[in-house]
Amino acid sequence: MAVIACPECGTRISSRAVICASCGFQLGEVTEADFEVFRARKLRDQIYHLNMTSYAVITVFVAGFCWYWLDSRGFSEAPSAGAFILMGISALAYLVVRGFLFRSRQIQKSMRAKRNMSSELRRNL
Ligand SMILES: [Zn+2]
Repeated sequence: MAVIACPECGTRISSRAVICASCGFQLGEVTEADFEVFRARKLRDQIYHLNMTSYAVITVFVAGFCWYWLDSRGFSEAPSAGAFILMGISALAYLVVRGFLFRSRQIQKSMRAKRNMSSELRRNL
């Protein structure tokens, strides 16, 4: 088994692969089952990245809260606007990320509900 570069995106893939795992470029005879596995992998990666993003956003929110706490000297004085803006933006970003995550999980759930799933598809969902 050799490793080749995908002609579309340049990602290193197996020479036996019929579909590029990164961009979905077809290198051979692609069946509907191959496409399902590709979509499932993409979805799994997407959910992973959305989860990581939501953790990063929570961290920014906590940083904003610490800033607020320090700036207001333990909530006894009015803080500067910066802390509020940071908390507001991160809270909004969190909601957006959770929205995308919810939608991705709904798609994954509907894919899992399918009957006659191939073992390769099951592994990737
Ligand atoms: Zn590719």
